[in-house]
Amino acid sequence: MDLKEKIGIYEDFPIEGISFKDINSLLLEPKAFKHVIDEMHLVAKALDANIVGIPEARGYIFGTPLAYLLGIGLVPVRKPGKLPGVVVSEEYKLEYGSNIVEIQRDSIKPGDRIILVDDLLATGGTLMAATKLVEKLGGEVSGIIILIELTDLGGRELLKDYFIHSMITYP
Ligand code: AMP
Repeated sequence: MDLKEKIGIYEDFPIEGISFKDINSLLLEPKAFKHVIDEMHLVAKALDANIVGIPEARGYIFGTPLAYLLGIGLVPVRKPGKLPGVVVSEEYKLEYGSNIVEIQRDSIKPGDRIILVDDLLATGGTLMAATKLVEKLGGEVSGIIILIELTDLGGRELLKDYFIHSMITYP
């Protein structure tokens, strides 16, 4: 199936210079969505993980059915201030300014094996911060699965220590 034709492209969104890849048109097509989840499932089965880590918000869309199929747990990776209890945080740089991501401290234990799932890999900043959170708590990242990879933004290089599977690429 040609998944690329299911992705919407919006130039200069949300700001000038960004070519935004919109997955919502793919989500409207059940066969395409099933194809994506089935391929992610096939890849994930070999990674021997016990947790799927999902950056909000679009990581939830793909990571949740994947965890269901694998029969393993889900750990949300959230923006600051959203999670109750004790959290661990990681700040990472953007082109301008910075972002913070958090997970609940007790959600990952030493020896846990985590697959990180997101819609898109750009600079890799978000997923790199998520790997640091997992490792701070003694977990191991068994792999990263994304639908879309922007190959010219350096994400794969930044995350070179990890297995990465992407399904659609753009320069
Ligand atoms: P990054 O941390 O640079 O790898 O970007 C991570 C997140 O930003 C992705 O999970 C996307 O949700 C979003 N994102 C970045 N660039 C784009 C883009 N060109 N189109 C759509 N979403 C994007």
